[in-house]
Amino acid sequence: MPDAAARLHAIQSALADAARVANRVPADVTLVAVSKNRTVDEIEALIDAGQRHFGENRVQEAATKWPELRSRHPDVVLHMIGQLQSNKAEEAAALFDVIHSLDRPSLAAALVKARWNGPTYVQVNIGEEEQKGGVAIGDLPAFLDQARDLQVAGLMAIPPAEVEPSPYFALLAKLARRHGVSGLSMGMSGDYRAAVMLGATVVRVGTALFED
Ligand SMILES: *Cc1c(COP(=O)(O)O)cnc(C)c1O
Repeated sequence: MPDAAARLHAIQSALADAARVANRVPADVTLVAVSKNRTVDEIEALIDAGQRHFGENRVQEAATKWPELRSRHPDVVLHMIGQLQSNKAEEAAALFDVIHSLDRPSLAAALVKARWNGPTYVQVNIGEEEQKGGVAIGDLPAFLDQARDLQVAGLMAIPPAEVEPSPYFALLAKLARRHGVSGLSMGMSGDYRAAVMLGATVVRVGTALFED
């Protein structure tokens, strides 16, 4: 079995270094282990190594893996990071503790109806990409106003692939400041250090935690 604990500790120390370089407190950055497509055994190895926050991108997959894991590890915090269909809002509200992918008014309405009151990140289409989910930058003020019945914890984004992500991280941080929200869910395996230097409060790391 590859060493989950060694990978976790390497990433924790890289995150702490990046935070210090940016004159930030390492404890202000939450590492979410993205466990989509990973088995219960792979996940449990990380839990045993001390990891507590996990992210899944599909309601159905989370529903098959997490009730069992949660019964053994009640202090785990589960994050929904993938696109969420409105008709799954109720199931998601029951399964997850945090939602990172609020991206449209109909979903906001469905979550309110499902009595969801956990921390919620508004996903922003930061690269203005046609195929990608997320609220358009220009629509953000109106959207945040529509989402006022939810507990908006911050903004989330996935920058365009294959280009330098830092300008997009900086832009998301600027939008968060402008709109008075403090949380910033940004950074994945390839770019979490840069994200932390630019203000990420949550990084979502999959591959680098689960693969050697
Ligand atoms: C899969 C995924 C991640 C993790 O990506 P890695 O490159 O494997 O670290 C982060 N965020 C979202 C929204 C994802 O779907």
